[in-house]
Amino acid sequence: MPTSRIRPDALSVDTDVRTYPIRFVHLAEVPAHLNNLGLHGPSVVLITDENVAAHYRSPLVHAFEEAGWTPHVVVVPPGESSKSMAQLEQLYDTLLPLELERSTPVCTLGGGVVGDLGGFAAATLLRGLPLVHLPTSLLAQVDSSIGGKTGVNHAVGKNLIGSFYQPHGVLVDPETLHTLPAREWINGMAEAIKHGLIADPALVDYTEQHLTAILGDHDLSATVPAVRTAMHIKAQIVAEDTREAGKRAWLNFGHTFAHAIEQVAGYGTVAHGEAVALGMRAALYLSHRRAPQALDHARLDALLAMLPTPDVSALSFDALWTAMRHDKKTQDGTIRFVLLHAVGDPFVASDCSRASVQRAWDFVQQSTA
Ligand code: ADP
Ligand code: ZN
Repeated sequence: MPTSRIRPDALSVDTDVRTYPIRFVHLAEVPAHLNNLGLHGPSVVLITDENVAAHYRSPLVHAFEEAGWTPHVVVVPPGESSKSMAQLEQLYDTLLPLELERSTPVCTLGGGVVGDLGGFAAATLLRGLPLVHLPTSLLAQVDSSIGGKTGVNHAVGKNLIGSFYQPHGVLVDPETLHTLPAREWINGMAEAIKHGLIADPALVDYTEQHLTAILGDHDLSATVPAVRTAMHIKAQIVAEDTREAGKRAWLNFGHTFAHAIEQVAGYGTVAHGEAVALGMRAALYLSHRRAPQALDHARLDALLAMLPTPDVSALSFDALWTAMRHDKKTQDGTIRFVLLHAVGDPFVASDCSRASVQRAWDFVQQSTA
């Protein structure tokens, strides 16, 4: 597993289809970096949402035009509801008449929603156009822009339609975080801390020391090293397990509860990262109960408690348990939890009793009340 402090300038993701770089660049340099990735115009498709477009559409379009490209911009409404078949169809309706070529790059500029929707459009248009993610939310930077998951939601459940489709590159401009709403910083840091807990004690130490500067001041000099390291960890795990057969399951630390919390609370009430923060607290509690010596539970729980979360006192354990039993990752009715032997040493447990899981939830509920 990755060890901390390796925060190499050259990050890359090595997958079964291609090895692609993660680069920290200014938005104005994106066209030149597309060329470096072997991608060429004149046409380029930019998929973004209204919030992100308000800040970054003009500078990016300008940069492309200056460099001799012809950008075609598609702006979707912000939020999870854009991850829909209806929105995807609209994208096809807008893009197909443009007579794209198989070599026309698609850039997604935005958070995870735009990355998933735009990524799936890129994967399916003309059987696959080259894709480059330009993640602007902290969550997309530390997590969803790496690994090739793309797709949309269905009435039956989230992310049920999609494919693994690896991008040609991930280009991150940390300056875009200046306009990111405060709640989205919490969402992103929850996943970044998750990467530390499953893989890197030094990232846990780092976030412990700098979380106030990151969440309170949105201080980029404190944030960027955490982003780099979190991306490195995600890239390592994806490289070892591109299609989620083994180690990639560790990325689900906190997510068994999180998916249930999001579903029971009603999507959007508790944001994904907030639900992950709560889910990680429950998973830490379960881990500590199994191996009291191995984890400094009080310290780690205190770190997670620094992430503000909504009131979950109304969520009943019965409803959460039912949701967990019906999760798509649940097999044969056995609920799986990623737990920790120690920080950086995760494992999958499929033998947690209902009573032990309920105690973990009671703990989380009481400590957030
Ligand atoms: P995720 O948390 O998975 O990235 P979204 O794609 O919905 O989910 O992004 C979260 C929210 O943050 C959306 O409302 C999006 O428009 C907004 N957003 C993303 N990046 C920025 C940014 N750099 N500045 C302002 N708003 C942003
Ligand atoms: Zn997540």
